[in-house]
Amino acid sequence: MILSCPICGNPLLKENRTLHCSNRHSFDLARSGYVNLLSGGGAHGDNDQMVKARTAFLNQGCYEFLRDQLKQELASEPVTTFADLGCGEGYYTSVIEAAEKYGFDLSRKAIDHAAKVDPSTQYAVAGIFRLPLPDQSLDAALTCFAPAAGDELDRTLKEHGRFVFVTPGPKHLYELKQVLYEHPYENPVKEPKLSLKQEKAYRIEQSFSADHDTLLNLFQMTPYAYKTGEAGIARFNELTELSITASFEIRVYRKSSSSS
Ligand SMILES: [Zn+2]
Repeated sequence: MILSCPICGNPLLKENRTLHCSNRHSFDLARSGYVNLLSGGGAHGDNDQMVKARTAFLNQGCYEFLRDQLKQELASEPVTTFADLGCGEGYYTSVIEAAEKYGFDLSRKAIDHAAKVDPSTQYAVAGIFRLPLPDQSLDAALTCFAPAAGDELDRTLKEHGRFVFVTPGPKHLYELKQVLYEHPYENPVKEPKLSLKQEKAYRIEQSFSADHDTLLNLFQMTPYAYKTGEAGIARFNELTELSITASFEIRVYRKSSSSS
């Protein structure tokens, strides 16, 4: 256990179903096994409907090739401590090979689901820009479809530690956008500003055939649900099946303080 207290920063120790620090701050594990380490509170992150839609979509296997690739990428070197920053339902987290795994997300619903299906990881409700982790504690970190937490990566990665960052490729879900929008656009590929050293950058793509239920889940788990006009919704409702491109940019970085 490498988690640290979100209030004072001291190490957290696990005793029965509670994590506590030497200053007697304590955090109970939920029934599913996750812990809420969010200081402050309030509702955050993806809601129940989005989590259900994403879980149903991911379980169809359309993004399994990305999951396989991430597992393989991280397994190229031994990993003792690993964290998935913005882990959602733990779909990618669950397959990573590491002695100690942590998954952080603001969505309690997503974290609760992750903890239920993946006992190999300690999941925690926490923001990725203020991680409940000590300095230089991670061998590897992953972020899929969430912002890269630059300063926290600098702080929490060990020297030579790796960060794998996944963003949508330019053509990701383009066929769906063609249905939804009058003027579909390609995703802009932006380089994140990180002080880590980039070692690799590559793109993986695969098409999948989506039936109406799969399309509906996909629609509900993306920002499209908030951005589509009536005409787009009408065209979408007519669809029975669509062949869609899944495209991902994968970047691998390494912390190397000697070069910076
Ligand atoms: Zn404390």
